[in-house]
Amino acid sequence: MGVAAAFFLGERGETDVLLLERDRLGAGTTKGGLGGIRHQFVDELDVRLSQLATTFWREFEERTGSRHDFAERGYLFVAETEEGMAQLRGPLALYERLGVPVEMVDRIRIRELVPGMRVDDLRGGRFCERDGYGDPLAALAGLGAAARLAGAHLVEGAAVTALLREGDRVIGVRTAHGDVRSERVLVATGCWTAALCATAAVSVPIWAYRRSIMESGPLPALMKIPLVGRKDRPLRQPPTPPRSRRSRCRRRSSRGSARGRRGAIPRSPICGSSTRGPVTTR
Ligand SMILES: Cc1cc2nc3c(=O)[nH]c(=O)nc-3n(C[C@H](O)[C@H](O)[C@H](O)COP(=O)(O)OP(=O)(O)OC[C@H]3O[C@@H](n4cnc5c(N)ncnc54)[C@H](O)[C@@H]3O)c2cc1C
Repeated sequence: MGVAAAFFLGERGETDVLLLERDRLGAGTTKGGLGGIRHQFVDELDVRLSQLATTFWREFEERTGSRHDFAERGYLFVAETEEGMAQLRGPLALYERLGVPVEMVDRIRIRELVPGMRVDDLRGGRFCERDGYGDPLAALAGLGAAARLAGAHLVEGAAVTALLREGDRVIGVRTAHGDVRSERVLVATGCWTAALCATAAVSVPIWAYRRSIMESGPLPALMKIPLVGRKDRPLRQPPTPPRSRRSRCRRRSSRGSARGRRGAIPRSPICGSSTRGPVTTR
């Protein structure tokens, strides 16, 4: 968010932009994001935002001068129950009104979209060809480079320790290296926002929720299919592995930086989603 804001401010001709990142750019949630970009939300505002965003992602290379593969391979939600199918049908009228091409699909069509996928336990699905996925870290790099070219200063390793407040206004930020005064302060600290805003006695209702992600090596057969999510059931938890295997898994997952591990992820779909949690697959 912070780097994107710096980019858009730069596009508007604002050159006096300072971004303070306590770690490295992308070190927060962005490094774990899967990059799913979809219109299939239930809230009209979300759908409209996605329509605007899709236009931007299509123009990304032209506007930033950097490469970013926005793979419009579609987004397929599948359901195993009638209840799940009803949930999928719920927002169809909204999509039609907003001109988003979303279709309900049967098992035969699902098999065409995702060759090899087991469909005998599915009731059907919902598919939008305009959805897809990008690469959060590639996008971040492109936005950051363009923001810098436009005059923004992006400083890493610079934590903001408090917001400076005078009366009803936030007038700057405090860092370990001193205070920075500014007419406008944008807080883009993701799930750490509530704590930072509390330093100016501002309450922001953002809470962090843990999400799980499993990474595989490249799976060429899955590289060109839509992103797939399950609508009515969360992914099943596998039985707890025996202790010896658990420690092997831990060792493997702790090797290398998140950035390095992501390099091994194929640009392929992500399967598995639940509507039960506060955040679902994007
Ligand atoms: C597993 C997973 C899958 C996801 N999949 C998708 C998806 O498919 N599609 C989608 O749209 N979204 C997805 N998301 C969500 C998406 O990744 C996040 O919404 C997005 O990255 C948030 O970006 P941000 O800039 O708001 O926050 P962050 O990336 O967390 O950036 C906040 C930055 O602020 C910095 N910071 C914090 N405190 C301070 C401070 N005091 N001073 C200075 N710097 C500070 C942090 O170091 C961090 O770099 C997913 C998230 C996860 C975890």
